[in-house]
Order: sequence, then structure tokens, then C-alpha cells
Amino acid sequence: MIGTRVTGRWPVMTSAQTAQARCLDEKELMFAGAEEMAQAQQVCQDCPIRPGCLAEALDGRYDYGVWGGLDPGQRRELRRRHPEVTDWHALLIEPRNLLLVGLDQ
Ligand code: SF4
Repeated sequence: MIGTRVTGRWPVMTSAQTAQARCLDEKELMFAGAEEMAQAQQVCQDCPIRPGCLAEALDGRYDYGVWGGLDPGQRRELRRRHPEVTDWHALLIEPRNLLLVGLDQ
């Protein structure tokens, strides 16, 4: 979520790129309860900055909200399945690498 979630952590992300986030007007939804989780995840599906968003949440071990299309439990599971990944940002800087960890682009 831009504004609260996109930080200076991403050296390759420009403000023009982060301005493309699909959740710009959906901040509350992205941190809503379990009932709205699926709806929030839908917002991420065609977001052009999804890989960077997901990487930030995984590297930061964020345990709240939907980031990069995954809820907190899904992110924990992804980290558990891939303990070899120590820098998600470096991995997901190439969007096609989402496929390497079992996620659609
Ligand atoms: S991937 Fe989802 S949470 Fe991340 S910026 Fe895009 S719409 Fe927002």
C-alpha cells in the first residue's frame, strides 16, 4: 500500500512506479479483517509493483495486512518453504522469479 507501505527500501522503484499501485485508494481494505482478505488480494492481482511490494513484506517480516497479494499466513508459509532466500528483494527484483517460488506473475 503506497503511502504506508512503499518506503525507500526499494532502490529500483521510482515514485512514478509506486504511483501505479492498485491499492492507492484501498488502504483500509488492505489492512481489513479476514472477511475482506480475498477482496484485498484481488486488488493486487494486476498490480504492476506486486513483486517489490511482496519482497518488502517478506524481507521486513511484516505480519499484518495484504502485501503483494499474500496475507500474513501465506507469507509465513512462503518464508517457511524457502529458507534459502535471505533477500527477497534481490530475488523478486526480476518479476518472473515469482514463478520460482510458486506464485503467478
Ligand atoms: S501488490 Fe497489492 S498491496 Fe502491494 S502495492 Fe500493489 S495493490 Fe498494493
